[in-house]
Amino acid sequence: MDKTVGILGGGQLGRMLAASASLLNVDVVILDVGDHAPAKQIIAPRRPHTTHIDGSFADPAKIRELAAKVDVLTVEIEHVEANVLEEVQSSLPLGVHPNPSTIRVIQDKFIQKAHLQKSGSPVSEFLAVESTAASISDAAVKLGLPLMLKSRTLAYDGRGNFVIRDLSQVDEALSVLKDRPLYAEKWVPFVKEIAVMVVRSTDGQILSYPAVETVHKDNICHLVFAPLRSRDPAVQNRARAVAEAAVKTFQGAGVFGVEMFLLEDGTIYLNEIAPRPHNSGHYTIEACETSQYENHLRAILSLPLGSTALKVPSVAMLNILGASSDHQEIIAFAQSALSTHGASVHLYGKSECRKGRKMGHITIVAPSDAELRARLRPLLERLPGGSP
Ligand code: ATP
Ligand code: MG
Ligand code: MG
Repeated sequence: MDKTVGILGGGQLGRMLAASASLLNVDVVILDVGDHAPAKQIIAPRRPHTTHIDGSFADPAKIRELAAKVDVLTVEIEHVEANVLEEVQSSLPLGVHPNPSTIRVIQDKFIQKAHLQKSGSPVSEFLAVESTAASISDAAVKLGLPLMLKSRTLAYDGRGNFVIRDLSQVDEALSVLKDRPLYAEKWVPFVKEIAVMVVRSTDGQILSYPAVETVHKDNICHLVFAPLRSRDPAVQNRARAVAEAAVKTFQGAGVFGVEMFLLEDGTIYLNEIAPRPHNSGHYTIEACETSQYENHLRAILSLPLGSTALKVPSVAMLNILGASSDHQEIIAFAQSALSTHGASVHLYGKSECRKGRKMGHITIVAPSDAELRARLRPLLERLPGGSP
């Protein structure tokens, strides 16, 4: 395919996009700091005048430099400079996907929530707060305890969240989240967290992947199970409908990751949307007819979308998170997983290991849920840092 895709961000999502692009012979140019970002290790741009760019995906000059080299711009992270994307949009043959206005709304989680609420998506109650003890205490009185205090911007892996269980913690919350714009959410007593990946083409076709269960520990996704199993089988289709309806309210092509909460009575609340491929969709590489990465590329290049159907009965994705700075134990664990039936090991090539950092993942496919659990159990027992 004679097209070049520019990606803002060179982490593991960009790496898996680049791997997928190489199968379609689509050229990829990455903008991120350093020469060895995970995505830059996959493949060097093939045209002689294109090389990856060393710089920040929030730096206007670097974004302009990237835009000049490619046919279409996309993102693997939403914390980018949306104004510049808007400025370069019309100069690119295939534009910017998703639309910069979508990125702008999503990157401020308070504005995102207000947008979702206004357009009819089910969200739990939330309030704007000032970064003062009085304002936060007032929100706690209105929304109850525990209260989920969240940074509006630059949040990921729960860094930016603080759970206030008692009003005596308000000062601590302010010191942890100091200088960050905040809002407050009512606590959602969910029984499961679920996610649906949705892909939209440039001509507005929308397809969703199966709903999955995501298991978080300390705000970080540890495990994903697909398909979602629930007492009420209708939850699967309702989750997909909620996700598709929410994505329809945003402009632009590509994959969106929709995170949701499932309550005991079957109610679904939307938590947040990522305007890009998502951790909870890694499983699609081995388990679906078309991966989220390939469908993202197909969508932004105006190619036909591929089927989102599962091609295996049961699948799990286990994130390999750093337990400490010890890189060797991560590699040893990944290597040991190679002996597990149905396991595919992904290592991201990050130069430094840190506690809680996403270093890789393992996808395990199986002919049944029982067999999946049997394959997964020994891996969980050996997981660096302990089982989630
Ligand atoms: P991500 O890495 O997914 O972008 P994030 O930093 O944007 O994460 P959220 O998704 O807002 O953070 O929250 C992280 C986790 O905290 C959720 O997956 C869920 O487990 C928990 N959580 C978030 N909001 C609430 C809430 N209102 N009530 C209860 N738990 C919540
Ligand atoms: Mg988030
Ligand atoms: Mg989240």
